[in-house]
Amino acid sequence: MEQVERQFAAVKHALEYLTENVGPFPWPHLTFVDPPANSGHSGGMEYTTLFTSASSYMMPGFFHLPEMVTIHEFGHAYFMGILASNEFEEPWLDEGVNSFWEERIVDNYYGKNSGLLDHPWLKIADESMSRLSYVDSGSRQTVSNAEYSWNYPHGTYGMMSYMKTANWLYTLMGIVGEETTNEIFREYYRKWAFKHPSGKDFVNVANEVVARMHGNKFGPDMNWFFDQTLYGTGICDYKVAGLRNEKLERSKGKVQAGDSLDRKLALSDSLSYYKAVVQLERAGEVMLPVDVLVHFDNNEEVMESWDGKSRFKDYTYTGTRKIQWVKIDPEFKIKMDVNYINNSKTVDPDHVPVRRLTNKLISFMQFFVNFISL
Ligand SMILES: [Zn+2]
Repeated sequence: MEQVERQFAAVKHALEYLTENVGPFPWPHLTFVDPPANSGHSGGMEYTTLFTSASSYMMPGFFHLPEMVTIHEFGHAYFMGILASNEFEEPWLDEGVNSFWEERIVDNYYGKNSGLLDHPWLKIADESMSRLSYVDSGSRQTVSNAEYSWNYPHGTYGMMSYMKTANWLYTLMGIVGEETTNEIFREYYRKWAFKHPSGKDFVNVANEVVARMHGNKFGPDMNWFFDQTLYGTGICDYKVAGLRNEKLERSKGKVQAGDSLDRKLALSDSLSYYKAVVQLERAGEVMLPVDVLVHFDNNEEVMESWDGKSRFKDYTYTGTRKIQWVKIDPEFKIKMDVNYINNSKTVDPDHVPVRRLTNKLISFMQFFVNFISL
């Protein structure tokens, strides 16, 4: 497909998705320009009802970079065009919110796990690329996400205002759900279109919508979330510290009248009893609720809900079953968790060299994508 057609399709996707999940595009026309190859620096820039996209020679069909840039620049019609926030003072509310929507749109239309790169040998979601830029950054804790654009130190502006924001918005969506997240943005649009909302206005809308849709499920408001993610500098890292299946000593003695069934079973020769323990730790400062999936050797599973507040948490199961493996956040709701590798453990540990190799390839891709400023 010609790149111009790819870009037209991308604009239609973005228009459809944002109209449905945020609000209508209010203008009767839209112009986008794909600058010629010798003026590449004018690509990837936004003005209301006009933006420039970016294509290049030899862009293979499996690499959706032109689509990503097009969707991103179109998205600015909403985030700061319609929702006219102050990009210089609160870049997260402009670039970060827009990146969150760009990633959702790209992965929705071009593949949940392959939105950015869809090759038989390597698939990368737009969301994963963005997440890795945050979790791989050595400077992710130097400053909060609520900084003036000119104050970000050590080259952290892009990683913080684009990627960290998108990452905690995904995490918010993992906690409160997709429909609630969309409703937050619809309400933000209804209330603040063509006005000049600040970050606090967005937080207030989120608090109001979450309370309306979930009552007190997450507390009186979501400030505990925003204080840690938007206004804080901590990292989130939950890990499985250990797994133990301790065989219980068979009780001494014989079955007697009046013994419980459990004791009778424990005394019979055919069954072994175990004290099975999962040991979890919170290695980061950020406290978020997490699901914990425990899988036993008889294929039974238990999903625990940990509020994630204490420094450690043990779950103990006594019976005839042994734990085989455990996974924190099995549905990847908590995208802020900076280390997924320590989220699971099996009794016979599986090594994960494939994932490390993928990380290297993704770093290489990031290097490539970073040539384009969005
Ligand atoms: Zn942008």
